[in-house]
Amino acid sequence: MTNSVRELPMVVPAEGLPARVRVHEVGARDGLQNEKDVVPTAVKAEFIRRLAGAGLTTIEATSFVHPEWVPQLADAERLFAEVADLGVNLPVLVPNERGMQRALPLGVRRIAVFASVTESFARANLNRTVDETLAIQRAVVAQAKSEHGVHVRGYLSMCFGDPWEGPVPIAQTVRVCRAMLDMGCDELSLGDTIGVATPGHVRALLAALNEAGVPTGMLGVHFHDTYGQALSNTLTALEHGVTTVDASAGGLGGCPYAKSATGNLATEDLVWMLDGLGVETGVDLDELIATSTWMAEQLGRPSPSRTVRALSHKES
Ligand code: MG
Repeated sequence: MTNSVRELPMVVPAEGLPARVRVHEVGARDGLQNEKDVVPTAVKAEFIRRLAGAGLTTIEATSFVHPEWVPQLADAERLFAEVADLGVNLPVLVPNERGMQRALPLGVRRIAVFASVTESFARANLNRTVDETLAIQRAVVAQAKSEHGVHVRGYLSMCFGDPWEGPVPIAQTVRVCRAMLDMGCDELSLGDTIGVATPGHVRALLAALNEAGVPTGMLGVHFHDTYGQALSNTLTALEHGVTTVDASAGGLGGCPYAKSATGNLATEDLVWMLDGLGVETGVDLDELIATSTWMAEQLGRPSPSRTVRALSHKES
């Protein structure tokens, strides 16, 4: 896509940042599950292949959610089989035990479970209380760990604010994080599902989690750019020592249950910043932009990523 030599950003390292960040790419799952139209399995598989080709090493492939809930991902089995041999980590989301039973026979080695920090979202998303959700996930994680030895990521929604409840007290988020860790999750992803976090809030939550015995090394961050804060919040998390950052190629996706939640942090915007800081990601930005530009053509609308727009010559 880009024919000329790209010379920016200039690399100027800043102190107090990790040397390397692992990008947890969520576009194929978190992004495509929110598409109105169902994307063909072959296009999804090609998307994942290209993401791997761009250097992403953890690519969340799909969700084994009930096909009636999310018809966009009803092809989970077929898709996983098509990409299973790519040689990268391909975690999949499993909402419950049934989802896990579908996923594990396929050779899945990494699963992700999720819980809401707030009662309102737990009810809206799953029609359960927070503690009921945790009980279900506890059983899933126990089985996944003891019988299958898979890596488990725990997603937490609404860690900073909730569209019905407003600001979420830090202690409330810490309690659910602690519960997810105690049930055996190997890693947690702190979701700012409606994008309302600001850097001081991020710093305070990370410190409170550490105080509650949750080590920074087990934490990933999942910011949404709804209010333009995703990169500021990410930088704050990196300064705290976080080295796992969730992002979505081309900025695909939001959250279907939270109206104001537009926009996962775009992987390109993240990699642009990390390239400039000299923080290693292993991602080739030009290849990634070519991938997102191709995907935007498949979806029939331009990518919301600023970096994709700035560097995709087709749009100028
Ligand atoms: Mg998201």
